[in-house]
Amino acid sequence: MRILVVEDEPTLAAQLAESLRGAGYAVDVAHDGVEAHFMGDDEAQPYDAIVLDLGLPRLDGMSVLAKWRAAGRSVPVLILTARDNWHDKVAGIDAGADDYLSKPFHMEELRARVRALIRRAQGHASVELECGPVRLDTRSGRVTVDGCALALTGHEFRVLDYLMHHKGAIVSRTDLIEHIYAQDFDRDSNTVEVFIARLRKKLPPGLIETERGLGYRLVCPG
Ligand code: CA
Repeated sequence: MRILVVEDEPTLAAQLAESLRGAGYAVDVAHDGVEAHFMGDDEAQPYDAIVLDLGLPRLDGMSVLAKWRAAGRSVPVLILTARDNWHDKVAGIDAGADDYLSKPFHMEELRARVRALIRRAQGHASVELECGPVRLDTRSGRVTVDGCALALTGHEFRVLDYLMHHKGAIVSRTDLIEHIYAQDFDRDSNTVEVFIARLRKKLPPGLIETERGLGYRLVCPG
């Protein structure tokens, strides 16, 4: 899953990015409203969630959000508001925010809200994703097969996480690249095949199918 963090305060931006990366997300950071609008306005490959500070230079967060929504971008957005500013919360929700958090906040709570946003956006009610004997706990990032913990690298985890959020659907290589790498990462489409090959070795056989010329599909027994 790939997340855009929009925050002009450098220390907080770095803390947010670090915390979300630690939770297994690929994270891009924008430091002003104009940059944020541009980065979040990608129709073909939208972010899985956006954390948006409202007080931003060049273009304020509320205007950025309104522009995305006016253009039909439905990416889940969590806004960060100043302490006790209920006007901002109401205006933000009216402008199309899916959730809000007042500063200062605990990173734990931010991560929980981001997880919930992504889960709801993709139609999952449970915090645990399941595919046959494989279980992925979106809170802890823990993956088990028949109850036994599976050791995965960060990229392997992101590939599996994305496939489990889209089980049964064909996921193209481009989708995977867009959702497992941050923007500034040196992307090499061949590496996706490497991650898939490694996952296949670690997972029960037959779970990840290749759809020739289209991509991959996670097939869950039962
Ligand atoms: Ca700010």
